[in-house]
Amino acid sequence: MIEIGSPLTGWVTALDEVPDPVFAERMLGDGLAVDPVEGRLIAPGNGIVSSLHAAGHAITITLDAGPVLLIHIGLDTVALHGEGFAPVVKEGDRVGLGQTLIEFDLDVLARSARSLVTPVIVTNGDAFRLSSAAIPGPIDCGSGLFTLEATGAAAAAVSLDQPVVSRSLKLLLAHGLHARPAARLAKRAGEFDAQVQIVAEDGRVAPARSPVTILGLGLGHGSEVTIKAAGPQAAEAVDALVELLESGMGELKPLAKADSSPSRTKGLSGELKGIVAVPGMAIGPAWQLRQVDIAVREEGRGIAKEREALTAGRGRLEQSLTAEAQQEHGGAIAAAHLAMVADPVLSDVAERQIMLGKSAAFAWRQAIAQFAAPLRRSNDPRFAERLDDLLDLERRLLAELDGEAEPPPLPPAGAVLLAETLYPSQLKALAEADIAGIATVAGGATSHAAIIAAGLGLPMLVGLGEGLFEITDGTPLVVRGDTLVIASDPAALDQAREEATKRQARKTAAEARAHDLAVTSDGTRIEVFANLGAVAEATLAVKQGAEGCGLLRTEFLFLDRDAPPSEEEQRLAYQQVVDALGSRPLIVRTLDIGADKPAPWLPLDPEDNPALGLRGIRLQLAQTELLETQLRALLGVASGGPLKIMLPMVTGLNEVRETKAILDRLSNEMGVVAPDLGIMVETPAAALLAAILAREVAFFSIGTNDLSQYALARDRTNRAVADGLDPLDPAVLRLIDATVLGAAEHGRVTGVCGGMAAVAEAVPFLIGLGVTELSVPASAVAETKAAIRNLDIARCREVAGYALEAPDAVAVRNLVVPLLEQMA
Ligand code: PEP
Ligand code: MG
Repeated sequence: MIEIGSPLTGWVTALDEVPDPVFAERMLGDGLAVDPVEGRLIAPGNGIVSSLHAAGHAITITLDAGPVLLIHIGLDTVALHGEGFAPVVKEGDRVGLGQTLIEFDLDVLARSARSLVTPVIVTNGDAFRLSSAAIPGPIDCGSGLFTLEATGAAAAAVSLDQPVVSRSLKLLLAHGLHARPAARLAKRAGEFDAQVQIVAEDGRVAPARSPVTILGLGLGHGSEVTIKAAGPQAAEAVDALVELLESGMGELKPLAKADSSPSRTKGLSGELKGIVAVPGMAIGPAWQLRQVDIAVREEGRGIAKEREALTAGRGRLEQSLTAEAQQEHGGAIAAAHLAMVADPVLSDVAERQIMLGKSAAFAWRQAIAQFAAPLRRSNDPRFAERLDDLLDLERRLLAELDGEAEPPPLPPAGAVLLAETLYPSQLKALAEADIAGIATVAGGATSHAAIIAAGLGLPMLVGLGEGLFEITDGTPLVVRGDTLVIASDPAALDQAREEATKRQARKTAAEARAHDLAVTSDGTRIEVFANLGAVAEATLAVKQGAEGCGLLRTEFLFLDRDAPPSEEEQRLAYQQVVDALGSRPLIVRTLDIGADKPAPWLPLDPEDNPALGLRGIRLQLAQTELLETQLRALLGVASGGPLKIMLPMVTGLNEVRETKAILDRLSNEMGVVAPDLGIMVETPAAALLAAILAREVAFFSIGTNDLSQYALARDRTNRAVADGLDPLDPAVLRLIDATVLGAAEHGRVTGVCGGMAAVAEAVPFLIGLGVTELSVPASAVAETKAAIRNLDIARCREVAGYALEAPDAVAVRNLVVPLLEQMA
């Protein structure tokens, strides 16, 4: 039971007596009204001021115990435009029972307002209902006005009168509780018959079913968070949410890392330092984007009309977002946007505004503003990114409601677009003007806009700071690395142009021959494949010249969801990749989850050293139903296409034999021929045992990302040590050499599918050591082929031989300089 204190001294009146159907018919929710005799409104409990009307006559308090109360002083008092009201709190303030919220002048109100009667409304009536109410008559402020009780499964908050289960933890999500994890948390919370709250360290509370409110808590990596629940399944709910948070939801980052985030400080004069969101070089005149504020009419045209307009506008936006969620770039974030648009708390706030006579557009803007405020206050760049997403949703829905206003002015072709921040949907429109690059004051490297820019191949720098505003239109600019150079010196500009011309010429020449085979100058053929991480990437890879897929990371089917995909869902996805690749080879890696790639649906005990723990093939052999389902799905398509299966994280023969036995059994049962089985060489053990493993497997592909981490004992997810991970270290090269030699003893071929395969200076060593297939990101296929064509295998063997004797990676790099100069 939650007791609500009277916010006023006055006379208790039933809502039915309030001469306004909005309140009397409980359109905003149930409650009571008080006719004040003193001009002071106090907090009816402990909580947060979640909204305060600009006119100072209405305030919403989200109580710690869950109820959200709207207190509306007088009727039609909005028309006073603040006259007679003196709020002493502001939005976002934490308030305690009895604290003064608003002072108001009874005389002014008595003269100007239709009535002074003040409804106190419970706006989240789906979660709380009135269980008792003060009888009409006099009441002192702070005395019990009514009591509330949570309504059970539908309740979004915790009644502290029930036994409460709670657990606290520190957030291990690398980017805190941003939109995607918040949406997942809310979805999981909805599966239990419990009222669950997420409580921040400073006491702010969000109902666990409201992703937008959770987002509003602005909880960054390392924040202390408490999950509180009450109700029949409270303990299960708390355990499930803690487990989900501890899994990291694919974004696990241990605590106590050195912060090596790039400097955002202003650089030397003529330069601004930022964060690389999309790498590349761009040169062009500056063009400042001036955000045009969308004007919004405040007064509504009737509750029904505005409500209908909001529903229709939201429906159209949801349709667009659903379509975008299917797209290759930014699909996951569009899906998170969808969850945000559908957020019940966001809708509630908008609905309340409409009920107060506001237009749909005004209501939506107010609702977004309420949740944007805490994100604005957050210092965490990830929350700044999510603020952009929220503001983009605001603009998009306003455009749906009122129709696009003036089309925005377009930059001249070739310009470097400068903006305070850039919303994803805006970027799509602006990019049509054929701009050269983008630089923004704020924003983050993983924002939705950055993902779209990457898809369009537009170099982008973010977080350059307000110095960007000082750059006038037309100023010559160069985007290079993490720096925006104001190229007022013509010589510097010429030099940059020369460099860019060379780069572009190399790229264009490479693209012109993207579909030719990669053959070294002496006639040695090297296959160049693409690494794929989504069905949609396959078509693109073929267009970019990939001869096949050397690594299909099947995790895309398994992460970011609440249950693993069925055999049929998997089969269809693999079939789609086979179809998109035509007759080209496809190497499918079985599921590589665990360690830095946790799946929320898979409860794994926390591990002290997850990189050395239950991951890759170890995990699949520990949970064979996962492996069997995936193998059956692959066997379902195998007969139709040139598909091979590859196992991740192999360390010994037993793992291969055990998997092979399962594959043989399943192929017999299904009456199909088992495809070739190969392994990834990602551990020093597999490299050193290559000759033994080669008896059992058909091919090897070296995962240099993991091989380097294990060889050099540097956790690739730990920023404090990952910078020192260099696959050109002679220790890694020796393991590659051992693999190729071991494989060759039994006539097996070795490819490389780790990131090293796409590094131009590494290619001579790899092919010099005998690697015959390189699998790289699709965007790197053409340039990797071009790099190979410039090489002579005898020369590569020679430098590779020296590299194996080199003392360190620097010495290895020096060996390749003359070769690269020849290629330039
Ligand atoms: C690798 O380890 O090099 C590799 C290709 O696998 P992943 O990066 O997916 O772990
Ligand atoms: Mg790997």
